[in-house]
Amino acid sequence: MGIATINPATGETLKTFEPLSHESIEAKLTLAQQVFESYRKTPMAQRAKWLNAAAEILERDKVKFGKLMTLEMGKTIKSAIAEVEKCALVCRYYAENAAKFLADEHITTDASQSFVRYQPLGIILAVMPWNFPFWQVFRFAAPALMAGNVGVLKHASNVPQCALAIEDIIKEAGFPEGAFQTLLIGANQVEAIVSDPRIKAATLTGSEPAGASLAATAGKHLKKTVLELGGSDPFIVLESADLDAAVSTAVTARMINNGQSCIAAKRFIVADAIADEFEKRLVEKFKALNVGDPMEETTNIGPLATPSILQELDQLVQTCIARGAKVLIGGKPLDRPGHFYAPTILADFPPGTPADNEEFFGPVALLFRIPDINAAIAKANAIPFGLGASAWTADETEAQQLIEEIEAGAVFINGLVKSDPRLPFGGIKRSGYGRELGIQGIHEFVNIKTVWVK
Ligand code: NAP
Repeated sequence: MGIATINPATGETLKTFEPLSHESIEAKLTLAQQVFESYRKTPMAQRAKWLNAAAEILERDKVKFGKLMTLEMGKTIKSAIAEVEKCALVCRYYAENAAKFLADEHITTDASQSFVRYQPLGIILAVMPWNFPFWQVFRFAAPALMAGNVGVLKHASNVPQCALAIEDIIKEAGFPEGAFQTLLIGANQVEAIVSDPRIKAATLTGSEPAGASLAATAGKHLKKTVLELGGSDPFIVLESADLDAAVSTAVTARMINNGQSCIAAKRFIVADAIADEFEKRLVEKFKALNVGDPMEETTNIGPLATPSILQELDQLVQTCIARGAKVLIGGKPLDRPGHFYAPTILADFPPGTPADNEEFFGPVALLFRIPDINAAIAKANAIPFGLGASAWTADETEAQQLIEEIEAGAVFINGLVKSDPRLPFGGIKRSGYGRELGIQGIHEFVNIKTVWVK
């Protein structure tokens, strides 16, 4: 696939872009390196002013940016506008807190004084996915810029106009020209950039193969990486849970972003005693969802972002069905233009289906029944991923066991797994490593310099 805007609701190609030439990339990296030398010396208060200005631009034009996202990747307009607002929030969060997060940390030793100083590294490469085209980028850019780094962005090939808009926002906010640049390039051009000595570290949000490929190149050149990869998050509902709250949150948790979120709940692991009722209510709620034009305010679910996402999802569903899984609702693409998939629930999986180890990236819920909490935790952990987990119980002892024993980067008790600028975000196992957001996020791309003075 080339670099292009293709409306997923219609399949129509709206705009195409030529990938940058070697010379253009070279010019952009040269500029980034030059800018870094001065940008790293700008006072923190000045960086914060620029980042707050970026927040204002995001809020001012949230409808315009929201529409652009919906046009390029199909998320519902409501969720797109909310995403832009969240980007403003993360800008303000780091503008306000970065100085505190990066202040010298004094430690008593045998020195007259010893302390830790946090310093920027240089140019950081961000390889980003299309599913949250603004949020994924701003949650990297806000801390990176506050720490005094500069950024280059290789965004997903299907959201080029979002990528260019983000560069413009950062420029308009007042950051020096070149502090944050979009590189319109294909995935096959990433290796050369990671290998370039001017690039000091890289972060990738996306699939496991993309993460492994970037990390292999970075490893060869001894560069740090942060990887935010896929997930197949469990949503555990135990017998004591508030069923009304659990069922309605289950729908949001699965359908967020038309089902294409790394932290969407994908596997619903429900106690036998309440499973019939949970299943019945979930089917009713899925039936009531309004699938359609993502630009309409009343739409709950828009199209999948690309034809290949739809094909991959359908292949996983058909494999499960062929091996004996039961379809409770949906189970196929919708017969209409664009890449629409029916809200689907699958249950009664025999051993050896893709439900055991694959990520279903779309509006498909996988339902499992378990006898007790130990079986629930075992099921939750029996997957190569470890991103987030949502678990529902009214019992404090059960809550503590879930928190302790679930293998994931985040556990939410009686709530939807979500990202929040104040809380670290990231995974374990095949969901990647490193953290974004919170204080941990800004510490990923800095030199933690130890200073000892006698
Ligand atoms: P993808 O194919 O891996 O694409 C993500 C980015 O990586 C794109 O910019 C893509 O460029 C680039 N890319 C692809 N192959 C590459 C390679 N070999 N070397 C370097 N870059 C490469 O991912 P996707 O399917 O679009 O996105 C969905 C995945 O992202 C899901 O697995 C989802 O769970 C995960 N995700 C994780 C998080 C998290 O925070 N953990 C958040 C959101 C999404 P092109 O577009 O040009 O191919």
